Amino acid sequence: METINNQPEPHYWEKMRLVADVLRATDATVVIIAHEDPDGDAVGSTLGLARALRQLGKEVWWIVEPPRFLRFLPHEDEYHEPVDELPEDAVLVVLDSGDRHRAVGAPVEGFVINIDHHGSNSRFGQIHIVDPTKAAAAQMVKDLIDALEVEWTEEIATPVLTGLITDTGNFRFGNTTPEVLETAAELVGHGVKLAELTDRLQWRPPQYFKLMGMVLSTVQFHFDGLAVSAHVTRKMTEEAGSTEEDSDDFVGVIRYAEGSYVAVFLKEREGATKVSIRSRAGVSAQNIAVELGGGGHVPAAGATLEGVSLEEAYPRVLAAVEKELKRAGFLG
Ligand code: 5GP
Ligand code: MN
Repeated sequence: METINNQPEPHYWEKMRLVADVLRATDATVVIIAHEDPDGDAVGSTLGLARALRQLGKEVWWIVEPPRFLRFLPHEDEYHEPVDELPEDAVLVVLDSGDRHRAVGAPVEGFVINIDHHGSNSRFGQIHIVDPTKAAAAQMVKDLIDALEVEWTEEIATPVLTGLITDTGNFRFGNTTPEVLETAAELVGHGVKLAELTDRLQWRPPQYFKLMGMVLSTVQFHFDGLAVSAHVTRKMTEEAGSTEEDSDDFVGVIRYAEGSYVAVFLKEREGATKVSIRSRAGVSAQNIAVELGGGGHVPAAGATLEGVSLEEAYPRVLAAVEKELKRAGFLG
């Protein structure tokens, strides 16, 4: 089980400057990857760094496969396909990824730089900068790009701001600090078209809305309404003509059930169940996720239960929710 350290990184700027020095000095390929099922922060932080390093003339392999709603961000020629082997002397940068096994696209070996903001990060890599007080990995990449002294352009600022927008729920979650808003202002100052970007980020295909109708019919309340759950099966996804990634933000809908402190959303996968957890008011989604073998942040976390069906997952997830509601003093 993963351990949690939600303290700020004590040597944040020192390490950021060290990473900038390493990246400036290298003549080798810089390979940039993020966690599986990449979200706006995973895609935005990696793409922003890739563009900044290319501006410095570096050879960069950006190995990330964005979900449909983020596919407008990269240009066709920016992609590099996943690899089983790294180029010689490569520097591997892993962003927004709680542990080395969650990172996908390339083997996590050789010289590894791990930059992340998950309290459950296992602190892997030759250099790791893990700061759970940062709202997004994109915030840390913003600082790294400043340390690299790369000149900001709209092309670099747009994906970085995307990471900030998505990980703060459009600047609404508790991680929306003055630093976040100041950084956002700076990035908009570099030419990001904010209204266009936030509009584009909300676009979903027609099948998404069909699937949402099915998903909302699975909503259940537990523990006198202190918790809310819903799920999606592979069959529902198929019937809606939809894809798995279309269900990614449904937890963000049910989390607003009045009177609830925890929202859990279960996704049936092949041979596994993926759980997304959201919480508020002193209840920790992170504790629930860690109990289930996953991780994340205090208000937003997740886990994948391998070899566990949807039916088997429900009682396990609800037991972990009950334990956390008790710990937080909401249940006797
Ligand atoms: P989501 O529910 O949106 O997939 O994830 C919420 C947060 O928890 C994200 O920051 C994500 O990186 C983290 N998370 C989700 N699933 C896992 C998991 O299986 N292991 C770990 N360590 N973190 C996870
Ligand atoms: Mn993130």
